[in-house]
Amino acid sequence: RGKRAFIAGVADDNGYGWAIAKALAAAGAEILVGTWVPALNIFETSLKRGKFDQSRLLPDGSLMEITKIYPLDAVYDSPEDVPEDVKSNKRYAGASNWTVKEVVDSVKNDYGSIDILVHSLANGPEVAKPLLETSRNGYLAAISASSYSYVSLLRHFLPIMNPGGASISLTYIASERTIPGYGGGMSSAKAALESDTRVLAFEAGRKGKIRVNTISAGPLGSRAAKAIGFIEKMIEYSYANAPLQKELRADEVGNAAAFLVSPLASAVTGTVVYVDNGLNTMGLAT
Ligand code: NAD
Repeated sequence: RGKRAFIAGVADDNGYGWAIAKALAAAGAEILVGTWVPALNIFETSLKRGKFDQSRLLPDGSLMEITKIYPLDAVYDSPEDVPEDVKSNKRYAGASNWTVKEVVDSVKNDYGSIDILVHSLANGPEVAKPLLETSRNGYLAAISASSYSYVSLLRHFLPIMNPGGASISLTYIASERTIPGYGGGMSSAKAALESDTRVLAFEAGRKGKIRVNTISAGPLGSRAAKAIGFIEKMIEYSYANAPLQKELRADEVGNAAAFLVSPLASAVTGTVVYVDNGLNTMGLAT
């Protein structure tokens, strides 16, 4: 049978999550998606109204099918963790079972197991502030949404992941080199995510024969990236300075992700793979 993938962090057709979903669908996988609760309505409505039909187009001429969309807020592990003001917030009240544990229980009830877990989400409420001006709450929120969310998803999904399966996340070079503007503890969150990739590769490898890798992606004008504010500058910088002077397309990251979660990469685990036109290798702006 074909493989089943759960992709956390898809809410429109612009980001890396969507591109990864497409690459996996093109390779024959069944696609389940986890969409941030506040973005759920607009995503489902747009999908239904055909707004994404053009970008659903796969190389064989068919349209990507998303088998099911699960509301998800990866900042909460189980209902006990959800504060009252969030519970009663009208953007949340319409949906149910969206904590990590509940989503995994739902997937288990619906399909029994998955083969591939993709984490393509991040959030840092103070991303626009330099680290020196970041509050404790802002820093911890960035880590919670962007790093622990991955630990939690993998921890909860692992028992229903088929041995030989694989997981992947998205990181950014600000974890290892200073990128002014990527603030609010987001650089710290990506450093944690990359370190966790190594430790989780060991633990999930031993425990469930699951591989764990992360893609350090170059700049893309996604919704999340536009919210940070300097993405156009980063895209220009990359174009000017990377070994490959071309636009970085989301589907190039999607294809690399499809490779990494496929049997072609059966001995690759615990690694950070750069999909950035080679920009990370440069030591001097040109
Ligand atoms: P995106 O906006 O397509 O994806 C981010 C998603 O995270 C959104 O769908 C958002 O709704 C979701 N999200 C935020 N908080 C959430 C929560 N608490 N629970 C569940 N979902 C939540 O943007 P993107 O740039 O494609 O981001 C995907 C990943 O790629 C992120 O990890 C990001 O850091 C990484 N990345 C992006 C770039 C870039 O330039 N765009 C570069 C390197 C890495």
